[in-house]
Amino acid sequence: MPIHIKAGDITKEKACAIVNAANRSLMGGGGVDGAIHRAGGPAILAACKEVRRTQYPDGLPTGEAVATTAGNLPAQYVIHTVGPIWGRCGDRCDELLANAYRNSLKVAVELGCDSVVFPAISTGVYGFPADRAAKIAYKTVKDFLKSHPDMDVTFIFHSDRSRKVFEKATAH
Ligand code: ADP
Repeated sequence: MPIHIKAGDITKEKACAIVNAANRSLMGGGGVDGAIHRAGGPAILAACKEVRRTQYPDGLPTGEAVATTAGNLPAQYVIHTVGPIWGRCGDRCDELLANAYRNSLKVAVELGCDSVVFPAISTGVYGFPADRAAKIAYKTVKDFLKSHPDMDVTFIFHSDRSRKVFEKATAH
C-alpha cells in the first residue's frame, strides 16, 4: 500500500494535494497553516475568503475539509481541514481527528487527485498527543486506501524526532 513517511516541509511537496491543518476561520494562522499561506501567496487566502462567503459563513467545522488552489506552491491543491483542539473535544477527540483525515481524502478523490500529503494534524498548537494522533491518522488512512488502492499518501513531519514518534506509534 502506497503510504510514505518522511520528514520535511510540506510546502515543498509536489503532490496533487497537500493538506493544511487550518483553523475554523480559514484566515490563516501559525504553524503549518502560516507556512502554507506564506509560501503559496495571496491566492490561497483569497480562495479561503470565497469559501467562507459561499460555503461556510460560520467557518469550517472541526473534522470537515475543503479544497482551494495551492497558489504558488508546487502542489495543485490545498485541502484545508480543521483538527480537534485537545482538551476541548471531550470524548470526541479521536473521532474528530479521524474525520479530518477521512474527509480530506474524500475531497482529494473528488478532485481526481492520486497523491496527498498530510501534516501531523492537531499535534502542534492544538496539543493532541503525537503518538495517539499517529495511531488514528495511520489507521484512518490505511482503512481508506482499502477502497482507494491507487491513492498515494505521504505523512510528512517537520522534524526527524516527530517522524520517529509516528513510526514508533504505528510500528514502522
Ligand atoms: P494544529 O493547530 O493542527 O496543531 P500546527 O500547525 O500547530 O497545527 O502543527 C501541526 C504539525 O505540523 C506540527 O507537528 C508541526 O510541527 C507541523 N508543521 C509545522 N510547519 C510545518 C511544515 N512547514 N511542514 C510540515 N509540517 C509542519
